Amino acid sequence: NSMTGQEIREAFLRFYEGHGHTRVASASLVPDDPTVLLTIAGMLPFKPIFLGQAPRQHARATSSQKCIRTNDIENVGVTARHHTFFEMLGNFSFGDYFKEQAIQMAWELSTKVFGLPQERIWVSVFEDDQEAFDLWANKVGVPKDRIRRMGAADNFWAAGPTGPCGPCSELYFDFQPELGTRGADLEDDSRFIEFYNLVFMQSNRSPDGELTPLARQNIDTGLGLERMAQILQSVPNNYETDLILPIMDAAAKLAGTSYVQADEAGKTALKVIGDHARAAVYLVSDGVLPSNVGRGYIVRRLIRRIVMKGRLLGIKDSFLQLVAESAIDLAGPCDANVPRSRSRILAELGREEERFRTTLDSGEKVLEDVLSRAAANQPAIVPGADAFFLYDTFGFPLEITQEAASARSMEVDLAGFETAMQEQKKRSKDAVSEVDLTARNSLGEMASELGATTFTGHHDLQGEGQIM
Ligand code: ATP
Ligand code: MG
Ligand code: MG
Ligand code: MG
Repeated sequence: NSMTGQEIREAFLRFYEGHGHTRVASASLVPDDPTVLLTIAGMLPFKPIFLGQAPRQHARATSSQKCIRTNDIENVGVTARHHTFFEMLGNFSFGDYFKEQAIQMAWELSTKVFGLPQERIWVSVFEDDQEAFDLWANKVGVPKDRIRRMGAADNFWAAGPTGPCGPCSELYFDFQPELGTRGADLEDDSRFIEFYNLVFMQSNRSPDGELTPLARQNIDTGLGLERMAQILQSVPNNYETDLILPIMDAAAKLAGTSYVQADEAGKTALKVIGDHARAAVYLVSDGVLPSNVGRGYIVRRLIRRIVMKGRLLGIKDSFLQLVAESAIDLAGPCDANVPRSRSRILAELGREEERFRTTLDSGEKVLEDVLSRAAANQPAIVPGADAFFLYDTFGFPLEITQEAASARSMEVDLAGFETAMQEQKKRSKDAVSEVDLTARNSLGEMASELGATTFTGHHDLQGEGQIM
């Protein structure tokens, strides 16, 4: 049952429209919410309704929401399933249907609309949520050995230390059903992929930690479009789907190769380029311009990483606009504003790439100095602090400095580099103020991680070590 990304998106939205949901357009990546820097989940635009701060316009809604999660950036190209930019398909109930119907619809969608074989779907429930367990086992008929009880870290959602909260239930796809159920571990991502998360917002947590039932119970869900595309298109990762492969091939072509022909390191570089090109294009389209603080610095870091990965692939000249063209070509069905803003996006990206290339050129000169000074040392070794300075100020990844050093038969003092990095992280931690509210897990992490950029600017940016 192969479906294109566009068909999957449309099938999801149609299915829930058919069940009385109003289709709501994706909100901007720049949220109307001071507690998070970027839109990280489909529920974010509806948060005021869930929190009872805004009236609901419909009892049920469905959307395909553009999302960015920078906390997943180290996973890009490393795991098969994580992106910075992705689309989260969701169905929402504002005090309308609840657990039973949400579970039944999710099952019908997965098995009938997407045609997943029943025996390949596993589910997780929160360990204390016997009701969800019974619904899956008795109403839907999932064998009990394919239902797993999980703890609060993965399966309990909260809007913050107080306020609405509730258990989750996730759906996983099994790539290797032949391995059977004994000893199976849903965390094993070579075998399983989480594709759908159902949040049952059923309680309110008071300041003393007590849970009381909410007067109006809500449903909040998220299904990753790229993950469903991976499953239905039978490819080994999200990147090789029709949603991203053309971007990787555009980049590969500039390097004189193709994605399939590239070696492992090349494939990883192409995945990073494919992912970040989408993120940068959508961010600029939504009005985020490269700068040294906050969201602007996220775009800047994404662009720098694209340029560095291009270097690694042997692309000599400016190439970001060509790769971005491909991302823009694919963006229409997700967001018609992107192709409409084509020339503005290309101009911004092109300008930023040139700026970075100038920085890189000055960095090359500093690198030259660093290397000749190191060559005079006894033993000839590049001090970690110098490598860190290049990294921190010029965006030189450690590998580039190492490569240049090894070309002159020298090594970089890695322990010294690590120490300099830790010191900087410590400084930035000290500078981070507390950011209140938002959910546990991703929501909370994002808010505090990204909050740092707002307050301290890029030199103290905590996540920087991860991004370059
Ligand atoms: P994972 O455990 O795989 O990191 P998650 O539990 O953090 O996923 P949720 O916060 O439950 O993800 O988000 C709902 C859905 O959105 C997930 O089930 C998945 O399909 C999708 N999703 C989440 N994060 C990403 C990402 N970084 N890239 C692509 N899809 C994602
Ligand atoms: Mg998860
Ligand atoms: Mg989840
Ligand atoms: Mg995650």
